[in-house]
Amino acid sequence: MSGKDRMGVLPARYSFALNPHLHARFTTCPRCSIKTRVRKVPFVIHVDEAGLFVLRKTCRLCTDCDLVIVQQAEIEPLIAAFVDQTTAAKPTYLVLGTVDPRAWRRGLSAGATVDELIQCMADFKDHVRIEYTPGGWQRST
Ligand SMILES: [Zn+2]
Repeated sequence: MSGKDRMGVLPARYSFALNPHLHARFTTCPRCSIKTRVRKVPFVIHVDEAGLFVLRKTCRLCTDCDLVIVQQAEIEPLIAAFVDQTTAAKPTYLVLGTVDPRAWRRGLSAGATVDELIQCMADFKDHVRIEYTPGGWQRST
């Protein structure tokens, strides 16, 4: 995937960061250092073994940067459960974007077709890698 391809019909929304660092919880934004908010967001995830699905997940959101941060250690067990793998191998997945919360509340998750999903999906503006340098962004309060 080139990263420039858009899937969702809605305008791109959010920068997305998957946080691999178990103990970094990003109560403040790694970019601008203001306090992040806890949000539950319906994410569109592509899993190689199972196709597209929607997973509503708690994440951190910086409203200033429009940056969403998801804990990798939290999302991967949920994906594995969805894929229902009997093997020990981790599913290969990519978080592609988000679904309009109103569409989610209408019950999109239950048996939506890919076409229906795309109609109310917004791709991420970009995927961000967060570099972890212990103590780098964590400020004492
Ligand atoms: Zn920020």
